[in-house]
Amino acid sequence: MSGSSLSEFTSRQRASHQVVLWFVAGLILAACGGSSVTPSSSTGDVTPSTHANRAPSRIQGQNDVDKIPLPPPAEAGFNGLLSAPTDPSTNDASEATFDRWAFHQVADFWTPLMTQVGLQTGTSTEVTFQPVDATNNPVPCASSDKQNEPGMLNVTKIGPFYCRFNGAGKRVIYWPLQSIFTLNGRTIPSYGAFAEAEVIAHEFGHYIQDITNILGPVTGYVLTYKQAGDNRDAAWWNQELELQADCLAGAWARHEWDAHLLSQSDLDQAATITDAVGDDAINPLVLLAPTPKAHGTSAQRVRWLNVGLQSGSTKCDTWSEPLYAGFLFGN
Ligand SMILES: [Zn+2]
Repeated sequence: MSGSSLSEFTSRQRASHQVVLWFVAGLILAACGGSSVTPSSSTGDVTPSTHANRAPSRIQGQNDVDKIPLPPPAEAGFNGLLSAPTDPSTNDASEATFDRWAFHQVADFWTPLMTQVGLQTGTSTEVTFQPVDATNNPVPCASSDKQNEPGMLNVTKIGPFYCRFNGAGKRVIYWPLQSIFTLNGRTIPSYGAFAEAEVIAHEFGHYIQDITNILGPVTGYVLTYKQAGDNRDAAWWNQELELQADCLAGAWARHEWDAHLLSQSDLDQAATITDAVGDDAINPLVLLAPTPKAHGTSAQRVRWLNVGLQSGSTKCDTWSEPLYAGFLFGN
C-alpha cells in the first residue's frame, strides 16, 4: 500500500546480464574483426518500410489502441491486489484461484474502456482464461504455428499463451500452472503475486491487440519473414508486439497504483519478472542472431512497462522501436 507519488518499475537484475552481453559481444566482434551487421534485403509482400530499424508506416490497428480512453481516476475501495483470494505460490489450486481473480481484475479494467469505443461488443469478442496442468495439456489452439501436433499447443514448452482461435471460435489465455511450468528455473508465482498478475495483464494485452486487428496481421508478417528466412525482420515485428503488450500491462498497473493497492515492491516484482524474460537475460547471443520469437531486451521490456505505467495505453505505440534498441543493432 502506498499513497506516495507514482514511482517506477525497477529491477536489480538488469546490470548483471548487460555485463554478460557486452562480454559476449566483445568476444564475437573481436573474432570477426568488428564487422558491422548489414540490414537484410526486402522479401515477401510486406511493405519495405516495415523492416527492422527503419521507421515503419503507421500500423492500422494502432488507431484503435489510441482511441481507448484513459480511465477515470481509480476510486478508493477498488477491488485490487490487497484483496487477492489466495497466495498463488502455494500450489496449482491456489495459483488457479488467484489467476482467475487477477484475470477478472484486468478484464474489469479494460472492458468498459474498450466497450466505450466499440471494441468489445459482446460475447463474440470475449476472452476466457484457462489454467492448464498435466490433465489438460496440450491445449487446443488453431491460430498458432507452435503446435507440436495439428491444432494443439504444449504450454509446458511455450509458457502463458494468448490463443486467437481455439478451434471452437473462442479466444483463450492459456496459463500453465506451477506443476508443469517454470521460467528460468523458477515458477511464475515464486516471483510474487503481482508479478503473476502482471504477466496475466501482458497476455490480456495480446487480446487487446487481437480486437484492434493488430495481432492477426503482425503475426502474419512474422510468419512471412520467418518463412523467407529473414529472421531479423520477423524478430522486429514480434518484438514490437511484445513490447506493446508489456506497455498495456503497465497501463493496467497504473490503475492499481492510483487506487493505492500497490507498493513499490509490487511494481518491482513486475519489473523483475519482466527483466528475467528479456531476450538478453535468457540468451545474450540472440541479440547477434535475432529469432522470430524476439520479445526485446530486458531494458526495453522494463522501459515499455514504465511507459504504460507513467502515460497509459495511448502512449503504447511501439511501432517505431528499433530491434534491440540500445544494443548492437539499436540506437
Ligand atoms: Zn507476449
